[in-house]
Amino acid sequence: MDDVREQIEFDVLFVGGGPASLAGAIHLMNLSKTRGLDLEVALIEKGANIGSHALSGAVLNPIALEELIPDYKESGCPIETDVRGDEFHFLTSTRHLRVPFVPKYMHNKGFHIISLSKFVSWLGSVAEGLGVNIFPGFAGKEVLYGQDDRTVIGVRTGDKGVGRDNVPKANFEAGIDILAKVTVFGEGPRGSLVQAISKKLPIFDGKMPQVFETGIKEVIQLPETNYFSDSQGNDVHTFGYPLGLNTHGGGFIYEMKDNRVSLGLIVGLSYQDPMLDLYEEFIRFKRHPFVSELIEGGRVIEQGARTIVSGGYYTVPKLAVSGGLFVGGSASMLNAPALKGIHTSMKSGMLAAEAIVEASSKELYTEETLSYDQQLEESWLRKELYKGRNFTQAISKKGLVKFWHIGTQYLTGGRGIFDRMPLEEDAKTLTPLTDVPSPRAKMNEKQSYDDVLFVDKLTGVYLSKTQHREDQPCHLIVHDLDLCVNACFETYQCPCTRFCPGNVYELEMDDEGRGKRLKLNPANCLHCKTCEIKDPYGNITWICPEGGDGPGYTVV
Ligand code: SF4
Repeated sequence: MDDVREQIEFDVLFVGGGPASLAGAIHLMNLSKTRGLDLEVALIEKGANIGSHALSGAVLNPIALEELIPDYKESGCPIETDVRGDEFHFLTSTRHLRVPFVPKYMHNKGFHIISLSKFVSWLGSVAEGLGVNIFPGFAGKEVLYGQDDRTVIGVRTGDKGVGRDNVPKANFEAGIDILAKVTVFGEGPRGSLVQAISKKLPIFDGKMPQVFETGIKEVIQLPETNYFSDSQGNDVHTFGYPLGLNTHGGGFIYEMKDNRVSLGLIVGLSYQDPMLDLYEEFIRFKRHPFVSELIEGGRVIEQGARTIVSGGYYTVPKLAVSGGLFVGGSASMLNAPALKGIHTSMKSGMLAAEAIVEASSKELYTEETLSYDQQLEESWLRKELYKGRNFTQAISKKGLVKFWHIGTQYLTGGRGIFDRMPLEEDAKTLTPLTDVPSPRAKMNEKQSYDDVLFVDKLTGVYLSKTQHREDQPCHLIVHDLDLCVNACFETYQCPCTRFCPGNVYELEMDDEGRGKRLKLNPANCLHCKTCEIKDPYGNITWICPEGGDGPGYTVV
């Protein structure tokens, strides 16, 4: 393939069309107008449309949105409904207990319940109206560096029309080089380009490892008369069953408009049992009597999966390098105790925009002049992140001890019993089945499905509207397939077949019940990246497929 690429130049390039990048781009355009700057700003997004890869039925704390677009309600911001009241329930396998005390940081009354896909699509239209050049369907594939090999000067987008054998086809389109004085990386959790930068520049040095949770979520259409028709609580959270107290995570059900709910189960990827199947846990959660009563008579209309970066303050990377900034999920911007990352991501994008405007007065965009780290330190965002600095560490503890840690953190502004509680990389937490038999193996009876309210994995993929051009190089690189059917099978029984919510990994067995071959169905991939994060051998690398491929979320 010819390596001379078409080049386009902008002042600022945002990579990724999520809340962080879009809020950053909008804020940058507004600031540049008030300061009389004339910045050319572009944004690329790997999804086919802005919002098609944004998955979250979510509660939005509007603090950043109020700063960004004070008249957001009048400007058409798509809000499903407002939170009337919070409910927090502990689930045993058959019962539920409403917890009388909901910590203050989880009070959501008055906040907005949104479809992230619709919200992000609306932010995209606001950004476009302000003059941001938006290019959906373009995946950032490679970071471009200047002559010093350290300064980021832009991004190369992925080629289109390459065959499975890596040979260009008749419809081949070479990726282009988008050059910018500053590139803002808002790729979301486990961004491929941020990973690539971290191999060259020490952005994670001295930081705790980024850790993640995976959420499987869906939108359910309920009958006209349903639990939420006259309930006070329309923001329901659960913990306990099916994960138990040794695996952190929990469920949620949020009321949306038109008799719909957004429902999901979030599982911390620090779990230890290799036999845990994320999708089966999700269905178990839905089948719990308390949950199934809330969604009775419903029909799943959309489903998806995504990871959330949950480690918080101590896992935030160095935020600026020469020519580059990191925002949103790529930069660990999550308020973990509040279970919220949209307003924090938006604020991080806005602070990045402020740092760019400051640096533009010197016409120099180096690590030193891009004062984003300092902007963060002086903001309310830093206070939020800092208060939750030990939270994920605490909830990752086994059993009841986690509540002791959470309680002391609550009383000490996040410090707890001791500060800087350690975090372990998610890839290192599985317990070999050769050491401890799986307690879950016994309860892993397969769930039954009715194709209406309880759909299987493949139907879930169908309902995510995921599409990939079949004839392209596989975007999931399994470096050593022999390792899968030997060491990994013997030690963990190929956990990828259970942690992948898209049924991408399938194990073919031989006549003696041993793993024979790992088969991949990359067309099913939901782009959640759980496989790259949780694989105990680091044997899987997720790379961006052709731009425009992947899920096609519209309401989740
Ligand atoms: Fe997620 Fe990996 Fe499965 Fe794709 S292959 S759905 S990224 S776990």
